Amino acid sequence: MNLHEYQGKDLLASYGVTIQRGVIAETVEEAIEGFKTLQADTGTEFGVIKAQIHAGGRGKGGGVKLAKNEDELKEHAGNILGMMLKTPQTPGGLNGPGKLVRKILIGEDVYAPDFDACNEMYISILMDREQKQNVIIYSTEGGMDIEEVAEHTPHLVHKEYVDPRLGLMGFQARKVAFNLGLSGKAFKEMTKFISNLYKAFVGSDASLFEINPCLQTGDDRIIAVDCKVSLDENALFRHADLAELRDEKEEDPTEVEAKSYGLNYVNLDGNVGCMVNGAGLAMATMDIIKLSGGSPANFLDVGGTADAARVEQAFRIILRDPNVKAILINIFGGIVRCDRVAQGVVDAYKNIGDISVPIIVRLQGTNADIAKEIIDQSGLEVHSAILLQEAADLVEKLVS
Ligand code: GDP
Ligand code: MN
Repeated sequence: MNLHEYQGKDLLASYGVTIQRGVIAETVEEAIEGFKTLQADTGTEFGVIKAQIHAGGRGKGGGVKLAKNEDELKEHAGNILGMMLKTPQTPGGLNGPGKLVRKILIGEDVYAPDFDACNEMYISILMDREQKQNVIIYSTEGGMDIEEVAEHTPHLVHKEYVDPRLGLMGFQARKVAFNLGLSGKAFKEMTKFISNLYKAFVGSDASLFEINPCLQTGDDRIIAVDCKVSLDENALFRHADLAELRDEKEEDPTEVEAKSYGLNYVNLDGNVGCMVNGAGLAMATMDIIKLSGGSPANFLDVGGTADAARVEQAFRIILRDPNVKAILINIFGGIVRCDRVAQGVVDAYKNIGDISVPIIVRLQGTNADIAKEIIDQSGLEVHSAILLQEAADLVEKLVS
């Protein structure tokens, strides 16, 4: 689950990480009022107006503007609120429709008084699955695309692995500060910043923190100017306060709807729709579709209780994707009986009517043979298979 920048900053601040302070607004009037409060609290002269959407690269798309007076604040707030902001990270990129901006953050100008005396760095924390450790990725080259930095000047991107059993050790925080070229007060501030950031990462069960830019000000303070925070959904039950920050308006509407039915659905760009019970089997199914030359249109785990109602909802969701040229249903009947699922498929097919794409059903496990009979005798255009490879070959034949 992703957080908005302002929510991520609140989370960081609660762990003692220094952030660019700001106020949130949904209207121009709120922006003006909020900015006055912010000025009173922080003494900032200017305000930076930042679109709050779940995508980075906002600056490039016109979603980040500096306002030097109230007129500019009104103008930028008015322009950004309600705009369809296109960034390289919004769906379809710069050629896509963009994302509607519903909220703006008005931040204190932390680059003042001397923009040129500021130093933009990059810091992220994520889990490295291969190393089975958390890793801090950092660079002196912040503010810009880290992907570009990694491609053209990979020696400027550093990694510090953290053993989850030991946590971040003092010498590691100092090493990060040292490699970032800091000394004196900035060095000390950075070791504190990194330690608190790491505590926030572990404490919130996050899967990604990205601070870009992380700013060294002219007077050597270290400040998180921007932040991207992704939380591990499987750990959200431990963080009721964070779970409440979910903004469903920012998420793929089909994925949100699927979730409300208890389906675990992720939209992808291929053409074979998949309906599977169990995440592991879903992944294996996607692999075998790929191996036999196809490409999955989605990941869909219908869960342990693949009953008729769920199968029907899953069908409807898969069919909404115009790229789907065939549907592969792959169910392992362990607790759930295959004949029940087969009946569910047949019923759903009849209920929905007018399904024009071929459907391949592979049911394995309890009562698989009865299930095959139900499907074969249904008179519907449903192809049944028992072996997974058989199913994949059928998909390949029907799609191409
Ligand atoms: P992103 O484009 O979505 O990554 O948004 P950021 O929050 O990273 O902001 C983009 C850029 O806006 C930064 O790299 C800065 O150059 C600029 N910016 C952000 N905050 C301030 C500020 O307080 N003052 C000034 N002068 N520029 C800022
Ligand atoms: Mn940024």
